[in-house]
Amino acid sequence: MEYGALVDLYEDLETTDADTALIEQLATALSEADPETVPLLVTLLQGRPFVAWEDCDLGVSSSLTRTAIAKATGQSEDQIEDWWRETGDLGSAAAKAVENERQQTLFGQSLTVEQVQETLEQIAAYEGTGSQGRKVDAIAGLLSDADPATAKYLVRTVLGHLRIGVGEGVIRDAIAEAFLSGTEADVGVVERAYQVTNDYRVVVQTARTEGRDGLAELEVAIGRPIDVMLAEKAESIETGIERVAAEPEAVLAEFKYDGVRAQIHVDGGEVQMFTRRLTDVTTQFPDIVEAVSENVNAERAILEGEIVGYNPETGEMVPFQVLSKRIKRKNNIEAAIETIPVTLYLFDAMYVEESLLESRLEDRLAVLESVLTEQPPAIERAENRRTGNRSELETFYQDALDAGQEGLMLKNAEATYQPGSRVGYMMKVKPTLETLDLVVVRATYSEGRRSNQLGRLYLGCRNEETGEFEEVGRLSTGFTDEELAIVTERLEPLIHETDGRDVTLEPKLVLEVEFEELQGSPEYDSGYAMRFPRFVDFRDDLSVRGVDTLERVEDIYHSQ
Ligand code: AMP
Repeated sequence: MEYGALVDLYEDLETTDADTALIEQLATALSEADPETVPLLVTLLQGRPFVAWEDCDLGVSSSLTRTAIAKATGQSEDQIEDWWRETGDLGSAAAKAVENERQQTLFGQSLTVEQVQETLEQIAAYEGTGSQGRKVDAIAGLLSDADPATAKYLVRTVLGHLRIGVGEGVIRDAIAEAFLSGTEADVGVVERAYQVTNDYRVVVQTARTEGRDGLAELEVAIGRPIDVMLAEKAESIETGIERVAAEPEAVLAEFKYDGVRAQIHVDGGEVQMFTRRLTDVTTQFPDIVEAVSENVNAERAILEGEIVGYNPETGEMVPFQVLSKRIKRKNNIEAAIETIPVTLYLFDAMYVEESLLESRLEDRLAVLESVLTEQPPAIERAENRRTGNRSELETFYQDALDAGQEGLMLKNAEATYQPGSRVGYMMKVKPTLETLDLVVVRATYSEGRRSNQLGRLYLGCRNEETGEFEEVGRLSTGFTDEELAIVTERLEPLIHETDGRDVTLEPKLVLEVEFEELQGSPEYDSGYAMRFPRFVDFRDDLSVRGVDTLERVEDIYHSQ
């Protein structure tokens, strides 16, 4: 297939808003494409040359792409940077660079979709010294014969951001429309096929050649990670019990551990491990591989659990930030195993010798427990209680918090596994939000509709030793339009320096802010940042001396 034909399709899709029209266009394109190109088409239409869980990353930054555009078109990098700024899109800047090329080539050589894919695979494979240069050359090579529209979409593809509005749901519906009859039931069949394979290339090919029956026969495969089931948040144990299951007898509660979700695939003697984002992290965790090999008695399995790090001296659990060092670690893994040992707490089984996706949670767990030999502290079943009794659960919740864990997971023991969905079969209960009273020290005017409003506020806590205010993050949500107008009205007289859209303020206006948690952050001078902060109220009853102290911020951070 000519890449130009795909570019035409991208352009049509980009200018189409309604989902139904998008689906129509896509379905026509899929049914008219050559059979060999169809799988490639579905991945390229999602703006990435690989499926989410393939261990392939192009490793191409914006600046590297800018260099490649300059090289292919003879435009200066500064000029490209200006166009980028003007349009807000490096793809559009590339189109302008091609348009303004002094020596217009005849856009002669036509590129095929397969050639583009091949080059992208090569780019992903370049590693080590000289690889950046080779990536630039390869991208410049693609761009050298491109017309402006082609350049635009090539650049967006290498950056992984197509901006044409085609999401997974649109692809699903288009496959059902193109190769089945497009009914609601057909959409359901395609959806299930995608859930078990997590790969639209397989789904589209099966739909094309074997139709409904072929799709219905697709199954989970070891080595191909499943999209994980997601949790919803409950405000309290009581609402969690009500929402997770119709009958309290169906409630199963587990500790909600503060670690990293792991999906473990066992295939004979081989063990592979994926994160929640489905990245393969097997090499970083040889200790988990060993614990699973020795203590899970199954030939073929897909299990799920949470990895939690602990302090080897005290045995106490370490915060997620410490554990995350092990995920990033590529060298000297043996030393990391010693300093940050981990426990795997298993909480689900999606496959043990056969697929368990259609089995009820209690049955999946019975299978899990039958193949697992617990070996603390390396590998254990997650702490759990089979009860929907509120007071028993309140006690269990307290136990979880006392153990330094995040809270509880309430699950419906009768529900099947729902890959990739947030359907209320799993509710998390965590302590309610924290609040702080902080002073606005800096602000930025918003963009767009609220451009005359100071919509981004940087908030400070008080360092009692120095008397200075130190920033703990920025706030831009939770206000009504009226409240934001009041904030702006009250802040403008306090401005003592303006730099473009940024202003520095006399610290006077005190606000109450709620947030999910505090994270360590090098971005702010206090060393901390609030996660998901929201405006609660003005604190005119407090003077700046009443602003919360850095000490309190540190206390909250350590108690989380
Ligand atoms: P959240 O990230 O707050 O949406 O909570 C969901 C995450 O909690 C999951 O992705 C898991 O990583 C984690 N988790 C910890 N303990 C459990 C458990 N017992 N069951 C399920 N998920 C758990």
